[in-house]
Amino acid sequence: MKSPNQIYLSSLISILLLTNFVSSEETVDNSFQKQSLLAVLYMQTSAEFAANNIQTYTNATNKIDEALSDKSWTAALEQKDNFSLKKPAIILDVDETVLNNTPHQARSILNGCSYPCGWIDWGLESSAEAIDGVKDFLLYAKSKDIKIFYVTNRVAELEDATRVNLKALGLPFDDDEDVLLMKGEKGWSSDKVSRRALVASNYRVIMLVGDQITDFISTEEATLEPEARKDLANKYKDMWGSKWFMIPNPMYGKWEGSIYGNQYPETQEEMIQKRLEALKP
Ligand SMILES: [Mg+2]
Repeated sequence: MKSPNQIYLSSLISILLLTNFVSSEETVDNSFQKQSLLAVLYMQTSAEFAANNIQTYTNATNKIDEALSDKSWTAALEQKDNFSLKKPAIILDVDETVLNNTPHQARSILNGCSYPCGWIDWGLESSAEAIDGVKDFLLYAKSKDIKIFYVTNRVAELEDATRVNLKALGLPFDDDEDVLLMKGEKGWSSDKVSRRALVASNYRVIMLVGDQITDFISTEEATLEPEARKDLANKYKDMWGSKWFMIPNPMYGKWEGSIYGNQYPETQEEMIQKRLEALKP
C-alpha cells in the first residue's frame, strides 16, 4: 500500500512527464510519426487486440499436447529429418510477439522522432510488458518440459536487458544454454533461418510464434511486392493455427517495406506518398 506522500509524489512525477511530452509535441514536427497514431492506440487500448492475442495463444496452448504426441510434427521448414526423438522446443520472436513495445512507439509520436531514435534506450529500460496470453502459453509449455527459445532481431547490445525484462515478467527462461538468440550475435544476420536451423539441429521445433512472416520463412522468400506477399500467407495455409501462430502488428514490419518496393525512400514525404499510392479505393 502506498502512503499518501508516495501517491502524491508518483502523481507529481506523472504530471511532469506528461507535461514534458505534451510541450515536446507542441514544439516538434511529428506529422510523419502521427501516421502511426491509430495503430499504436489500437494496440494500447483496444479489447479487440488483447482478445485476438489471448485467442491466438489459447489456440497454440490447445495444440501442444497433439504436437508432443505426434513425433512426425515439426514447425520448422529448416528441420528436415531425424528429429522424432529430439526434445521438443518452441521458438518465439520477441518484439510484438512476447514483449509489447508500444510505449516506445508512443514516445516516437509525442517526440516526433522515429525508430531507431530512442529504441536502444527503451530496450535498456527492461520495462516492456508481456503481450496478452503469452505468459499462460509459455508456462503451460514449460510444465510439459518444452524448451523455449527466443529468436530476436534486437541487437546483441540489448541481450542482457532483454533477458532481465523476460525474467522480470516471470516468463520461462533457461540458463543452461543460450535461449536468447540475438541479431549480430555469433555472426547471425537478420534472416532467422540460420538460428531456426541451429535450434532444429538439437530439438524438434513444434511451434513458431511471431509478428512477421520472416519469423516463419526466409527473408529472401518474404521479400516481394505486397500482392505476392499476401499469396505467401495462402501458400502456408496448413501451418497457421496449428504449427505457426501470428500476432498482428499494424505499427511496423517488412509489410511496410513491401509497400515501398522493399527499398525505403529517402524522405518521410516520399514514404507518405508511397503509402497513399498503395491504397486501393
Ligand atoms: Mg517481432
